[in-house]
Amino acid sequence: MADPITIENLGKTYPGGNEALRDVSLAVDPGTFLVLLGPSGSGKTTLLRSLAGIERITSGRITIGSRTVADGKIHVPPDQRDLSMVFQDYALWPHLSARDNVAFALRRRHLPRAECRTRAQEMLGRVGLGALADRYPNELSGGEQQRVALARALIADTGLILCDEPLSNLDADLRERMRVEISALVREAAATTVYITHDQAEAFALADQVGVLEHGRLVQAGTPEEIYTRPATPFVARFTGLAGELRVRVRDRLADGTMLVEPPSGHAFHARAPLGHRDGTLLAGEGALVMIRPTGVRLCPNGSNGSDGSSGPNGQHLSGRVTDVAFRGRGYEHAIDVSDSIRLTGVFADVKATRGETVGLRLDPAGCHVFPAEEQNR
Ligand code: ADP
Ligand code: MG
Repeated sequence: MADPITIENLGKTYPGGNEALRDVSLAVDPGTFLVLLGPSGSGKTTLLRSLAGIERITSGRITIGSRTVADGKIHVPPDQRDLSMVFQDYALWPHLSARDNVAFALRRRHLPRAECRTRAQEMLGRVGLGALADRYPNELSGGEQQRVALARALIADTGLILCDEPLSNLDADLRERMRVEISALVREAAATTVYITHDQAEAFALADQVGVLEHGRLVQAGTPEEIYTRPATPFVARFTGLAGELRVRVRDRLADGTMLVEPPSGHAFHARAPLGHRDGTLLAGEGALVMIRPTGVRLCPNGSNGSDGSSGPNGQHLSGRVTDVAFRGRGYEHAIDVSDSIRLTGVFADVKATRGETVGLRLDPAGCHVFPAEEQNR
């Protein structure tokens, strides 16, 4: 039932010359939950609307299932693409009850009216709205309206479900609960899903595969784990959560894929070399930039000793002053100034440090990523 999708060299330039997508290629296996992640204006909605057939593409090709739905000549209209959509603003019919909004999605099946209503009632039950089926959209909260929209998308039983930031109008607590529901219900439907968001945590929590968009280009695609542990560019690293950045000098390149780098003050530490970096880039002595994940830095326990000989007392690589401590339930997150201009945030520890205290920091190569220094302004 689930459809594979192939996007080849997709380009979209709006009338007036605004290039929203450039040379995007991506293959999505049937049943995959793909999340497209990018900041506002990066082309997410344009890509989703191109998949849906609401936008005509400028170049390239889109295949859904075994059918080319868009290329330079072909343009299959949205209602012939066998897909359903969930929008940020719910897009319900205001003059129809919740039940009739959902039943409406069955209109193309030519089922008897009574059966449509029975099925709609069942689907509303599955999204937890069975008791509210007679209400109109203006009698429902935002979260309830989004459940109706989700029920409407699921009942259509299409091979592809497209979601455009469906949680962004909900408040934080409800957003997290709805995220879990969407994940479970959509996976149960076994459709291929393309879901867009600008929220990194939401993307990582939902996705089988993540595609990161920057200025209309797909800059990295992979599992959430791949993108977190091997960000392809500084942009991807920044957009998916950093404690901070550090300018360093390369001391040595090692065979295990790490580099020994030296911070302006502190002790040399190991960090991951960039993905696919070639010989001739990042030679010993050159300046570089290290992107530090919150998981790549921790407070040094007092009294421990560095095991690799490169670190200072207590195994530390850097020291800094604690400027903020936030209790997070599982432990504490610290903001630490390692110099006048460099602050690391989200530094986790089970034990609370004191504001104003000077602490040692230990860096873990798995969460520290080296990039050439000239890329720092990208
Ligand atoms: P996102 O969903 O990631 O915020 P969009 O796909 O909405 O990004 O927009 C990508 C770019 O295309 C932006 O620069 C936006 O201003 C532009 N854009 C979007 N829709 C139109 C349109 N109908 N006409 C012209 N430019 C548009
Ligand atoms: Mg958008």
